[in-house]
Amino acid sequence: MTGRLRLRADIVLAGPELRSIPDGAILIEDGRIAAVGSDAQVPRPDSCQSIELADATLMPGLIDCHMHTFGVDSTRLHLLATEREPYRAARALSELMRMLHAGFTSARCLGSTIGPDLRRSIDDGFAEGPRLKVAGAFISSTSGTWDSRSVSLSAARLTGEVADGVDGLVQAVRQRVREGADFIKLGLSKGGVHDRYHAWGDDPLQQVPTYSLEEVTAAVLEAHRNGLMVSAHAIGEAPVRLALDAGIDIIEHGYGITPQTRARIVESGRIVVTTISQLHFHRAAYDIHRYPQWERDAYERHWAAMRHDFELGLQAGVRFALGSDLIGAPTHPLHEAAMEFVLAVEWGMSERQALTAGTIVAAEALGMASRIGSIEAGKLADIVAVAGDPTREIDAVREPVLVVKEGVVVAGTGRNREQLDG
Ligand SMILES: [Zn+2]
Repeated sequence: MTGRLRLRADIVLAGPELRSIPDGAILIEDGRIAAVGSDAQVPRPDSCQSIELADATLMPGLIDCHMHTFGVDSTRLHLLATEREPYRAARALSELMRMLHAGFTSARCLGSTIGPDLRRSIDDGFAEGPRLKVAGAFISSTSGTWDSRSVSLSAARLTGEVADGVDGLVQAVRQRVREGADFIKLGLSKGGVHDRYHAWGDDPLQQVPTYSLEEVTAAVLEAHRNGLMVSAHAIGEAPVRLALDAGIDIIEHGYGITPQTRARIVESGRIVVTTISQLHFHRAAYDIHRYPQWERDAYERHWAAMRHDFELGLQAGVRFALGSDLIGAPTHPLHEAAMEFVLAVEWGMSERQALTAGTIVAAEALGMASRIGSIEAGKLADIVAVAGDPTREIDAVREPVLVVKEGVVVAGTGRNREQLDG
């Protein structure tokens, strides 16, 4: 991207702390932020497009730290084992375009075999979507988190997700590296033997660890040797403790734990990714998609435990990053990921805390805090404008009026478009 773009709005949320600058402006040059400050301070070079946004706030592009680019019907996830990948990719790219237009300039795909190729097509400019960081395929033990028992053993093995033993895990990490993963995703918790909702478990307080400490430690060492961070799906006390003992970098979900384990998380400074939307959208779909009662009961237990631990985590000082854990249409549309900000505020975060958790802290989870996540000179120009002031009305983030990714206006109101062309 070449050229200059100047944005002005009633408020700019600048820097990692989202400092409110009234009557603020941002100058963008060659896809990067060249200057930010009050309208009077920021230069107005000749040959510069400018966009005027009254009654709006300019803030960093939204980042979803936990989502999936499955590209299959979200109510028929067993298709992940057998659906043709070209179809999945086409479907996922259309969902990713809408996600970008909804204000998400970056996202972390925490498990999908097609993630690396989606990232490539977006980075190469052939498709529109958030800048992706991807895990590639999940890594799961036999009978582990994502080793679905609703498909035959031979079909379940087609995706290459299952790895067991120290050697198996080291090999799985190397395969992900070869496929182009940006980080590794391990499944460390699952339901008990008679659980019906195996992947998440019928009860967050009755979770079973999927691997031994030796296995997880070996995977972490191999990932770190390759310069990759490791994320763990970990719900329940024993699996989260396993994650901490093995040196996992980021904990996904991370509820159903004791005060001692929470204190360890806080002390270590580790990020925990929220994933409230995943359950919120299941609950919204109960009736429309005729969820059986046992499944509703399981989600209700998870909902209560997640909320309980979220509130305790906030009090204790856990560093939360916002991740929606959305997986696609029809029940979990990626372009609704901003709901995570609204839910985090409903559950007790201040608006500014939620905005920080979904921008600069999320950028850290992507390993990109020095390049994205805040409006600062030198960073990539990933910026959204929302109506009003999101530090007072968090709902505003659900409908951005302008989306800029790396200095390019990718979505905006008709009014803004006209001003751009004029
Ligand atoms: Zn997930």
